[in-house]
Amino acid sequence: METLRPTKNCKLCIRLYDFRSDNKKKYPSYYNGAIPIYGDRNAELLIIGLAPGLKGANNSGRPFTGDYAGEILYHTLAKYNYLYGEYNKNDLKKFSLKNCAITNAVKCVPPNNKPNANEINNCQRFLLNDLASLKNIKAVLTLGRIAHNSLIKILNLKISEYPFKHNTEHKLNNLKLFNSYHCSRYNINTKRLTLEMFEDVFENIDYFIKNT
Ligand code: SF4
Repeated sequence: METLRPTKNCKLCIRLYDFRSDNKKKYPSYYNGAIPIYGDRNAELLIIGLAPGLKGANNSGRPFTGDYAGEILYHTLAKYNYLYGEYNKNDLKKFSLKNCAITNAVKCVPPNNKPNANEINNCQRFLLNDLASLKNIKAVLTLGRIAHNSLIKILNLKISEYPFKHNTEHKLNNLKLFNSYHCSRYNINTKRLTLEMFEDVFENIDYFIKNT
């Protein structure tokens, strides 16, 4: 699989390109483009989410920045010492990631937060590039099944041998993969994922990073 970075106005997914064009008219001050990986280039940990939120990353231009899921994720990253400064969704200069990078399986905001199978497949070339760009990577945290399956696929492994399950770990070639439910508003509100459950995953990641 070739490794590439998406252009801001990537047109590989026509439906997402059309949605972006509509959003540019509705929200002209937003970033409205494919959201690139963000973080520390020497990171040992990569976090993969699903896709940018319309009023979150699609507005700020930075993964997970500006919406509810970002509040949960950045709060947890700060607690486990992966953050310089203090998270502030309105001022991106106030914080940066330490030993961590964040990206999404799908780089463009999809309607109703639901990318389709073709869009997920199209964007895997860019996820591969994200992974290849981190030379010190040891661990990956996938938030939700789509992120998990995309990672397994770009590594040419079988999903049946590495199934997604919350708070499980998989050894993949030279990487350790940690699974968590996505920290979305829906999952938190329905208690599918609690803050304690999310922190349990980070406890395991923290232990692994510090002991390898
Ligand atoms: S989701 Fe990925 S492949 Fe599709 S248009 Fe956006 S950047 Fe391109």
